[in-house]
Amino acid sequence: MQKLVQGVHNFQMEIVGAQRDFFRRLAEGQTPIALFITCSDSRISPNLLTQTEPGDLFILRNAGNIVPPYTPSTIGGEAATIEFAVSVLGVHDIIICGHSHCGAMKGLLNPESLKDTPAVEHWLGNAEATRRIMKEKYSDLDGERLLTATVEENTLVQLENLRTHPSVRAKVAAGKLNLHAWVYKLETGEVFDFNPLEGQFVPLSERPAAESESKLIRRIERSI
Ligand SMILES: [Zn+2]
Repeated sequence: MQKLVQGVHNFQMEIVGAQRDFFRRLAEGQTPIALFITCSDSRISPNLLTQTEPGDLFILRNAGNIVPPYTPSTIGGEAATIEFAVSVLGVHDIIICGHSHCGAMKGLLNPESLKDTPAVEHWLGNAEATRRIMKEKYSDLDGERLLTATVEENTLVQLENLRTHPSVRAKVAAGKLNLHAWVYKLETGEVFDFNPLEGQFVPLSERPAAESESKLIRRIERSI
């Protein structure tokens, strides 16, 4: 805890002290660039990996970067956060970012390891489709390759769940909101982005900066 207290002290003295105008402007309101949905894992720092500042990202975190599908019985913190970001803040992009070595995904693959954590077990029920896809489609994989594929597949499953949220669906239909599935490899700092054209995750550094998923999909639709 002492590390945190010392950190707050240093932050106030060195960071805020040197950028007083910037921090004062934050009090006037927020216009974040994107809603960033990722895992609670302590090894992920959304602002660090995207090199963004306070005010740039509206962040939603939970174990396994999960988005419960929108139903009257599942309206909770996730649905409210998504609705606020889309309908009130008007973000133009939502990123679901999974990551390598995800403990939640390990638990999903080994349900017997969750016996003493019933809340986690219940929560991971929102990723049941991921578990079943892995069983049906990737039964030849094991170890690290299975975990990596599970992390990737789960971001796509959660992206589909995101599309069930009315606010998201309406903005996507109107061409005002782009959805992205990312995987962060924490041991190298690499970020992989799902490319619908190729049907696979590719290094984000290889993607043209201005390209968006909806543009890609429109291009696919035109080419069919
Ligand atoms: Zn995780």
